[in-house]
Amino acid sequence: MKRHINIPIFIPHLGCPNSCVFCNQRSISGHGDFDIGSVRGELERAVSTLDSDADVEIAFFGGSFTGIDRGEMIYLLSLAKEYIDSGAARSVRISTRPDYIDGEILDILEKYRVTDIELGLQSMDDRVLALSKRGHTSETARKACRMINERGFGLVGQMMIGLPGSDIASEVATAEEIASLCGGARIYPTVVFDGTELCDMTSSGEYQPLTLDDAVIRSEAALNVFIRAGIPVLRLGLCASDNLSDPEKAVAGANHSAIGELVYGEHYMRVLREYIAENRLSLEGKRVTVCAPVGEVSKVSGQKRKNKLRLTGEYGALDVKVIEDPALGKYGVRIETD
Ligand code: SF4
Repeated sequence: MKRHINIPIFIPHLGCPNSCVFCNQRSISGHGDFDIGSVRGELERAVSTLDSDADVEIAFFGGSFTGIDRGEMIYLLSLAKEYIDSGAARSVRISTRPDYIDGEILDILEKYRVTDIELGLQSMDDRVLALSKRGHTSETARKACRMINERGFGLVGQMMIGLPGSDIASEVATAEEIASLCGGARIYPTVVFDGTELCDMTSSGEYQPLTLDDAVIRSEAALNVFIRAGIPVLRLGLCASDNLSDPEKAVAGANHSAIGELVYGEHYMRVLREYIAENRLSLEGKRVTVCAPVGEVSKVSGQKRKNKLRLTGEYGALDVKVIEDPALGKYGVRIETD
């Protein structure tokens, strides 16, 4: 099977007239001094290091790609198309806002052979969208998703956890809608960056940043929706490169370098509880062996053995061991007792 390689090109805040309360694209992308003239060299360098048989995707991330200056957008798309035409890349992915999608834009993306579109949906709750100053409604988002699907592009919906006015019910409802409209998802627990309106709202007490525990529980609730619907989650949490390690830039919220691992661990705890309930298992005073899918032992055990400790604390299990079982598929578990 060909190795999938993604070449991410960050296009920060170019042409974006919006002011979402959580956004400081300069801070998030870490590419404050973006030079469009450097993109060709960036692509050349990336492609030159790859095996010739790699499955290469060029991805324009970081801003509102279809909202940037039209000439610059076409220039970037034509660069990417050169690599598609030469066979050096197979696909082009862009990320944008739902209100920057219309028939004409989709014509352009199709012409330049864009294959996948990621939409920053963030929430499908109009109250949350308004409090976050997104500048569009959930209906705009639904319409954009339908148009993209009708034209045959791949569609990924990005959502945020912990936006102003949001709660777990609103986030689960958003995940359910994204699962019904999109072929993939990304989940981003909100991090408060310095210089954003959200940072001011935090200082004034108007906004309460997510605690890590809350972020894990709420992100898991959204993740559970996608897993049950068979929708792949491409990413959970911002990338380490997104200025997360600089405490002067990421000032509050769900900022943990292993947040994805924590959320998947929480999901396995849900799976374990369901397994115990469905099988009416009693673990009280018993030695317990949990069988986990290959490669998933650390997630099933939980960070710092959290899930093992919960099996002891909640169910009275003794001496919990987690081992791999190649017969189990992803998110499958089996519990054996002595
Ligand atoms: S639309 Fe995107 S780039 Fe523009 S302010 Fe909002 S999050 Fe930032």
